[in-house]
Amino acid sequence: MSRYWSPVVHSLRPYVPGEQPAMGSVVKLNTNENPYGPSPRVAAAIAAEAGDALRLYPDPGAVRLRDALAKRHGVDREQVFVGNGSDEVLAHTFQALLRHEAPLLFPDISYSFYPTYCGLYGVDYRQVPLDSAMRIRIADYRQPCGAIILPNPNAPTGIALPRAEVEALVAEHPDQVVVVDEAYVDFGAESAIPLVRSFPNLLVIQTFSKSRSLAGLRVGFAIGQRPLVEALERVKDSFNSYPLGRPALAGAVAALEDEAWFEHNRDLIVASRRRLAEALLGLGFEVLPSAANFLFVRHPGSSGAKLAAELRSRAILVRHFTGERTADFLRISIGTEADNDRVIEVLRLLVR
Ligand SMILES: *Cc1c(COP(=O)(O)O)cnc(C)c1O
Repeated sequence: MSRYWSPVVHSLRPYVPGEQPAMGSVVKLNTNENPYGPSPRVAAAIAAEAGDALRLYPDPGAVRLRDALAKRHGVDREQVFVGNGSDEVLAHTFQALLRHEAPLLFPDISYSFYPTYCGLYGVDYRQVPLDSAMRIRIADYRQPCGAIILPNPNAPTGIALPRAEVEALVAEHPDQVVVVDEAYVDFGAESAIPLVRSFPNLLVIQTFSKSRSLAGLRVGFAIGQRPLVEALERVKDSFNSYPLGRPALAGAVAALEDEAWFEHNRDLIVASRRRLAEALLGLGFEVLPSAANFLFVRHPGSSGAKLAAELRSRAILVRHFTGERTADFLRISIGTEADNDRVIEVLRLLVR
């Protein structure tokens, strides 16, 4: 606290990111990073930018990257917005599109950055409870609101909504923006991007951090019809014209050029997810059906907090959330086969 602070700062409740330990030999399954590295083409493209070119500002319009994304997703460049990680894209979205008279709706169990952005930008919100199976029910969103945001697959549950349900939700709210945060969509859910052509109120946000192994580069993007993207550009150009540096722009384009690398790693992770889920079921865990690169699990005989602490003491980091409905659970990112074997080995000793 300081008397020098702007008043709003006193009431901010900052997001708390998962721990990034300095120690080398931990099994790090707490922030849903990809256990496999990015395409070697990414490092080559970044190296090519890392010389004299750094003297110059990057392209403020990020045209090469937006063109590559437009081509991959079958839209026009003008329908693509890029930012410094999807967290920045989300922040601009909250400010540009989600602050209205009526409250923003999002699930009670969801990405914990959403309430933080609401605090930062003064967005009134209401949390809509997931059902008893921890699923989003779109019927529960039939209520007066200013806008809607939800992750698909949801985080931290990992449960995906079929595209037809996303479509129904967007169609039921023609006067509100509906934002679908698809940070994990590549691991097994259906993207809403094909719906963008039909719905002027739909914005889809994705990231290079998870499925493209580039959490350290900070690249995210949004796809929507032109007026929504223009709102984001207005905020961005009132904030920072160059959110992506030359290395990030070049690296992201290179990542998109290596689909085979991306698909191979994604398939490995999906196969490991299935094996890890089966092993945990065998140990008596309840495992929510995940379409993401993590599992949300609980054990009838052991508290989530206790298991997380015991794992931590054995150099395995997983994520534990303290919310009323989530405190029993652990969120375990899918690691390499060796990482997953280690978690299973330790959990076998901890649960009885
Ligand atoms: C990881 C994550 C993001 C943010 O990703 P960036 O690294 O900022 O691109 C956004 N939404 C959800 C639900 C996430 O889990």
